[in-house]
Amino acid sequence: MTLQDRFERPLRDLRISVTDRCNFRCTYCMPREVFGPDYAFLQRDAILTYEEIARLARVFVAHGVEKIRLTGGEPLVRRHLHGLVSMLSDIEGLQDLTLTTNGSLLKAQAQGLRDAGLKRITVSLDSLDDEVFMRMNDSGVGVATVLEGIAGAEAAGLSPIKINAVVKRGENDHTIVDLARHFRGTGHIVRFIEFMDVGSTNGWQMEHVVTAREIVELINAEMPLEPAEPNYRGEVAQRWRYVDGSGEIGVIASITQPFCGDCTRARLSAEGQLYTCLFGVRGHDFRSLLRGGATDEEISAAIAKVWKVRDDRYSEIRTSETASLPKVEMSHIGG
Ligand code: SAM
Repeated sequence: MTLQDRFERPLRDLRISVTDRCNFRCTYCMPREVFGPDYAFLQRDAILTYEEIARLARVFVAHGVEKIRLTGGEPLVRRHLHGLVSMLSDIEGLQDLTLTTNGSLLKAQAQGLRDAGLKRITVSLDSLDDEVFMRMNDSGVGVATVLEGIAGAEAAGLSPIKINAVVKRGENDHTIVDLARHFRGTGHIVRFIEFMDVGSTNGWQMEHVVTAREIVELINAEMPLEPAEPNYRGEVAQRWRYVDGSGEIGVIASITQPFCGDCTRARLSAEGQLYTCLFGVRGHDFRSLLRGGATDEEISAAIAKVWKVRDDRYSEIRTSETASLPKVEMSHIGG
């Protein structure tokens, strides 16, 4: 029988953070003032090994998970990530395996990931304007490096390639249309994300949010768009197609049009804490189970116990008070 939570939402997707470390310091995600030289990142023995992750993933797939996304932190900073991809791609019943990366290390790794069984990829790129992009990532990496990573992914045959752009008012909203124009006709799908109040260190305020509706209007004014049907129930991005057939974009309106009702995602942090919401305050410890000799049946029962009582719908009940809750950081839980 399908595992369902309190709102009858099945467990279908698992996002796995393979590391809490990142080589970027995006101001909206890992601001340098907080994630500086003294920040206590997880120690190596605290994070799950690839074998532990793969074992857990198998149990999740047996519970109905169809899609796994590797994320972080920056997944490509963890060594030999292709080894994990290879283990996961062997899991029978898993229909979709993908990865989200900032693209800075992708050029060198794209072919290895593809050979290990990765089919598609999402690359984050907030602007094509070097000055804007570098101000946002605060780590000295320019646009060209990420574009080379995207080209490498294309050459390796990863497809489709999705481009994630977080939009923050006053930072990169004037470069939205450029980004859409650049990728139009390439087959790559740009997805614009409303700036979210994840974690508690990014200084989120509603005034910083450029709404999905505004984003669509801006692009539509130059390159006419029409709504497209979702690919499947619970798809995070709303799809918009260029009227002239030159491709599509997506908008992720987690602030202005929350999609909790269809949320089928669980998230595993690098040290094995399971979260049932991106805006979660506390996780459930699976590392102790793994390292304490639990059988697959016991792990399976523990997953069911967590999911059955799940009643998260943070984005639907967001207020200025909830926005300041001590929520887990996105770099920890995985985006
Ligand atoms: N390092 C990888 C990357 O850059 O894609 C994976 C992890 S990152 C946390 C995943 C995605 O979350 C990125 O596309 C990032 O831009 C997005 N993100 C981070 N903080 C966000 C926020 N406050 N609001 C909206 N999206 C955010």
